[in-house]
Amino acid sequence: MARRYRSLTAAQVQGLGMTSDRTRERMLTQLSERGIANVQVLTAMRLVPRHLFVDEALASRAYENTALPIAAGQTLSQPYVVARMTELLLQANPARVLEIGTGSGYQSAVLSHLVEKVYTVERVRELHVQARERLWDLRYRNVYCKYSDGSWGWIERAPFDAVLLTAAPESVPPALLDQLQIGGQLIAPVGAQGGRQSLIRVRRTTQGFEQEPIEEVAFVPMLEGAV
Ligand code: SAH
Repeated sequence: MARRYRSLTAAQVQGLGMTSDRTRERMLTQLSERGIANVQVLTAMRLVPRHLFVDEALASRAYENTALPIAAGQTLSQPYVVARMTELLLQANPARVLEIGTGSGYQSAVLSHLVEKVYTVERVRELHVQARERLWDLRYRNVYCKYSDGSWGWIERAPFDAVLLTAAPESVPPALLDQLQIGGQLIAPVGAQGGRQSLIRVRRTTQGFEQEPIEEVAFVPMLEGAV
């Protein structure tokens, strides 16, 4: 049965009663050690209370460098992957970003500190509703959430300076490339379901699209339709 998200208490919003600052600092040290050098990204990840994006029972593990389960059989990516994708995304200095796969809302919250506007689309209604409420409670006012199959993008808000997929399609949906601004870039894990995928970067130029492989990753699959 669907478990309803309970609104955060005022204390939680202010970060009181949270897991220790030390575990958060350890996460940042690990990210630096693994090669995340962008100070803006590290600062944003220090600011976002990851423990409020997972179930209370998992809060004590929120700052470990591990993926964590969220509702509907989905996962919140490991901090390193969030940091790496965010770092890649910022290289094009985007103002308006489209994210496919809102999930817990964590990646959107990180982006919200770094760009002007974040548009995020989720196909599972329960996750969409929870993330939208959570982001609102945490005062992230430049994140806009939509309930839909993300393979259609968000045409009314297009074009975007950057597009980020946090679920893996077998190939990049054409609508997402169409909605990319010239000079913009799309970051996506692409590959067959169930295995590992290749994280790719696609840049849109005046001539067309240029694709570049980045590294191997493991994401949940991008699925069709909204449920
Ligand atoms: N960015 C998320 C990670 C979520 S995991 C976070 O920070 O928590 C990937 C998410 O993509 C899941 O919530 C899944 O439901 C969603 N997803 C999968 N296919 C999708 C699609 N076609 N459109 C929109 N969301 C999709």
